[in-house]
Amino acid sequence: MMVNLQINKNQFSDLLNLLNGVFFPLKHFVNKVNFINILYNRKINKSFFPIPIFFGVTKKNYNKIHNLNYVKLFYKKKYLALIKIKSIFTIKPAIFGKQLFGKNYKNHPYYKKFKKENFAFIDFKYEKLIKKNLKDKNFVSPEALKKKTKKKIGLNRFLASFHTRNVPHKAHQWAHNFMINKYNHLLIQPLIGQYKKNEYSDETIIKTNKILIKTYKKNSAFFAPYFSYPRYGGPVEAALHAIVRKNYGCSHFWVGRDHAGYKNFYSKYSSQNFCLKNQKKLGIVIIAQKEPYFCSGCNKIVNKKCLKEICIKSVKHAVSGTKIRNYIRKSKPIPQYLMDKRVSKILNKKSILTN
Ligand SMILES: [Zn+2]
Repeated sequence: MMVNLQINKNQFSDLLNLLNGVFFPLKHFVNKVNFINILYNRKINKSFFPIPIFFGVTKKNYNKIHNLNYVKLFYKKKYLALIKIKSIFTIKPAIFGKQLFGKNYKNHPYYKKFKKENFAFIDFKYEKLIKKNLKDKNFVSPEALKKKTKKKIGLNRFLASFHTRNVPHKAHQWAHNFMINKYNHLLIQPLIGQYKKNEYSDETIIKTNKILIKTYKKNSAFFAPYFSYPRYGGPVEAALHAIVRKNYGCSHFWVGRDHAGYKNFYSKYSSQNFCLKNQKKLGIVIIAQKEPYFCSGCNKIVNKKCLKEICIKSVKHAVSGTKIRNYIRKSKPIPQYLMDKRVSKILNKKSILTN
């Protein structure tokens, strides 16, 4: 008997990323040994690896497949692969939550999602891969991107990478310019695949970041989406993001303030500190700058204290995505100190996910 198993968008992205070396040295969905080793030791075999990439099934799907040897994987009616099941195992959600998100894990949004979606996990091998269906318009492989950057800027060069899950605002632009000035080349690689209310839609993130690429000096900025989804894992997810960028051929990686964070779950600089501590194991240089803000004294975005008298007395304005989304939701114009007009003019209520 053969069963067709429909996978979701997140699983489809994990599958494409694993098959294309985005998560190298992890090449395959984790088995139980790897899963536990990553949770407790942040390791896969002997290499550093911060987050398990697993293949989970709901209880309903578990009942369908648990005594089968072979299963066909489908995504949106497209046949992707024939797999042979090696083993099915479980991981206690509480252990997953605690090891990845700490003692407050029960309030973590990805823990809730994890618990809902994963009754058991499958370790399998591929019997057949349907290559023509294993692609997506928003997926760029490391191989394809490296080919492009090699052609435009050569091999022995710096390429600094900027991760975001946002529409770019003025503080992001400050970071872009900082990296172009210092390292000559920038890769803007926004994470798409949002699933939470009040985040931006994939199309909006892609479109607005591409607008900025065109405003920078020719061949100094490149664009590729990071076809995945947020786990809100703070430090460990920031480390995964660094590994991903190394695999895309980047030499430097910008870790932001509260990178991959969620509300007040982590402290402001814990992602930067964790990545700096593990920089050698990550194999990519970590850029850990202070958060840029708008100084109303000199009318500029800065990330160091302004010492001019007029600046000392002036107000520091945080440039925050939350603030901007509030303007959008109320259909109010976004002030130019927060966002470039070329970007804000294409935003409206529909740019934000409502469920
Ligand atoms: Zn100032």
